[in-house]
Parts: sequence; structure tokens; C-alpha cells
Amino acid sequence: MKTVEAQINLSNLKYNVELIGRSLPAHSRIYAVLKADAYGHNSVHCARALKHIAYGYAVARLEEAVELREAGIDKPILMLGGFFRSEDLQTIARYRIEVTVHSDWQIEALRNFHADNEIKVWLQVNIGMQRLGFNYEDIKPALAALNEISCVAKPVGAISHLSCADDISTQEYNRLQLAAWHRMTDDWDGELSLFNSAACAYFPEDATDYVRIGITQYGISPTLGKCGSDFGLKPVMTLSSELVAIRELHPGDAVGYGASWVCKKPTKLGIVAIGYADGYPRAVPNGTPVEINGRVVKTAGHVCMDMMFVDLGGDSNDRIGDRVYLWGTDLVKVETIAEAVNTIPYELVCHLSDRVRYTYTGDTED
Ligand SMILES: *Cc1c(COP(=O)(O)O)cnc(C)c1O
Repeated sequence: MKTVEAQINLSNLKYNVELIGRSLPAHSRIYAVLKADAYGHNSVHCARALKHIAYGYAVARLEEAVELREAGIDKPILMLGGFFRSEDLQTIARYRIEVTVHSDWQIEALRNFHADNEIKVWLQVNIGMQRLGFNYEDIKPALAALNEISCVAKPVGAISHLSCADDISTQEYNRLQLAAWHRMTDDWDGELSLFNSAACAYFPEDATDYVRIGITQYGISPTLGKCGSDFGLKPVMTLSSELVAIRELHPGDAVGYGASWVCKKPTKLGIVAIGYADGYPRAVPNGTPVEINGRVVKTAGHVCMDMMFVDLGGDSNDRIGDRVYLWGTDLVKVETIAEAVNTIPYELVCHLSDRVRYTYTGDTED
């Protein structure tokens, strides 16, 4: 029934993760990052598709971890931001969820918690992002405290995050962060996890035991100015809708709210059933590419809540009901749309609304 469709190609997802895996050292294991419903790609479907490829999965919220477990997902699941309340430990232990620990109150909470099974813990260290994690001088006491707690599995891992791995112009800051990481973890007993998609793409040979791959597994570039295909990746999400009306326009006809696009020469205007309430960004400028019947046409006027306009051209033969592709094809890439609205593709793919129908292609088993 729903008109707007996000088609999720699970074969491409597997292809991408295998490709990334082959570029990493043999000791590196992949946590497939499935937070925010797998960046809008559906976490349960993606988890099932990756069951033979990923070592485990990473999420941001407890409810995301529980959703995977309740769907029968058995592999390690890591909560990247740790837990936010001591009450959550009950659920974390019961569902065997790994957590990061970045604050003293969390160590206190673990000390006061009595679990039947051990909880796997990653000590988060701050190497320069200033988001989560202990500073250098606080690591030793934190680790010593964790080692005293019986419900904490030993040895404790170390985890951190690079803030500029995606940007060639900040290589210097990367080097500083990597140096800080080595200073903090070179004599660490437990497992180590540092790299995200961009770090794996740009310096795979330095990858840690455990890496965390998000955006690139979905076939999307981690870097502005590049596309997934520049890294050999294939898009996983294709967003499409339908042409629901076509009208003849004459010079001077002004299109849409605010009359922001005015027809210069006779043309046909296509009305497409997708708007910002579905998750297509309202901020796209006139002339943003859209694909129909194998060619690129351009947006005209402001995107409405439920519809948008494209200039089909005077000689076009498109018909009502024809499929219109907004991103995820060779001709129209999500990176292009993100750049047109001054954001990153992460934000676009994870902002689709529940008016969007999801379909899945590619084998989900094996
Ligand atoms: C989201 C996230 C990742 C994955 O980042 P990508 O750029 O999508 O690969 C890795 N680590 C942490 C801590 C994250 O929050």
C-alpha cells in the first residue's frame, strides 16, 4: 500500500562487509554497527544477513540491543555509549550485552550489582574527542577498580573513537589521537577496539583487534566529496516513489510554495509522491538530481510535506505510475543529495519516516 519504498539490498550489504574485511589484517574482527535501526536499513534484517561475516554487532541504545536479542540474534552485542542508568544492568546481564564504561558512577553501579553471569566491559578512553572516556591519568585506577568487581569479565577491553578519521585535512589530529591511543593501551592485557569506517578505509593496516564498521557497510562514503563507489562499495538502500501527476507548464508558471521556481520554456512538470514527511530533505535546492526511466531530471521548487516537483522536459514520455528514484542508484547517489543540503549521508538514511515501506532483496540466510 505504501508508495515510498526503501529497497534494502542485503547481498550488497554482505558484499561490502566482506570487501572491507579483506582489506583488514587477519586478526581484525568486525562489529557491524547497527545503531539507529542500522542507519535506517533495519537492524534485524542486517544482523541476520551478516551472521556469517560479522563477529558481533554494535548499537547505541539498550532497546536496540534488546530488539536484536528478542529477534533471536545470538552474537556479541556491544552498547557503544555504555549504560545510562544503573537499573539497566539487570537487562544488560540478562541479555548478555557488552558495555563500555566511561564514568566513575558506572564502575560504582557495577560494584553494587550482583549478576549470575559476567558482563563483558570495555573501558572507554578519551584520546581527544572529549565525548566519552577516561583521561590518561584516570585509566589505571579505573581499570584497577573494574578488575576488583566480580561480575566484570576479565581481562577488560579498551575502546576509543577517532574524531577526524574521515578528513584528509586533519591527518595531524589523527596522528595525535593514534599516539594517545598507543600511550594508553600498548601494555593492555585485554582486547582493543578503535577503528570506525573511515579509519578502516584510510589506514587499514593499523586496524585494532576489533573494528566497528558503520557507514561503509551500507555502501556509503565516510568522507565528504567521495562516493561509496570510489571505495568499491555498493549502495544498500534505494529510495523510490512514483510519479502521480504530470502537467504542462508554460513560461512564467511558478511552481510550489513560495513560487520559488519559474518556468522559462515549455516543459512537463512531474509531481512525485515523496516529501519531507517521508524523509526526503526539504532543503534541497532547485536542480537536485532525481532519476526516472534511466535518466536524470532535476527538482523544481520547494519540496512539500508529501510531494515534490521535477522538470521532466518538454519532449519527455514519462507516465503516471512510473518509478522515481531519489537515491541509491548509479545515477543518483545519496552522497550527492547530502552534499546538496549541507549534511552527511548518515543523517539522510537514518531519517526515513514510517510512511516508507521496506522491502529486502538478496538472500538473508547464509
Ligand atoms: C557510530 C559509531 C561507529 C561507526 O561509525 P562509522 O563512521 O559509521 O563507521 C563506530 N564507533 C562508535 C563509537 C560510534 O559511535
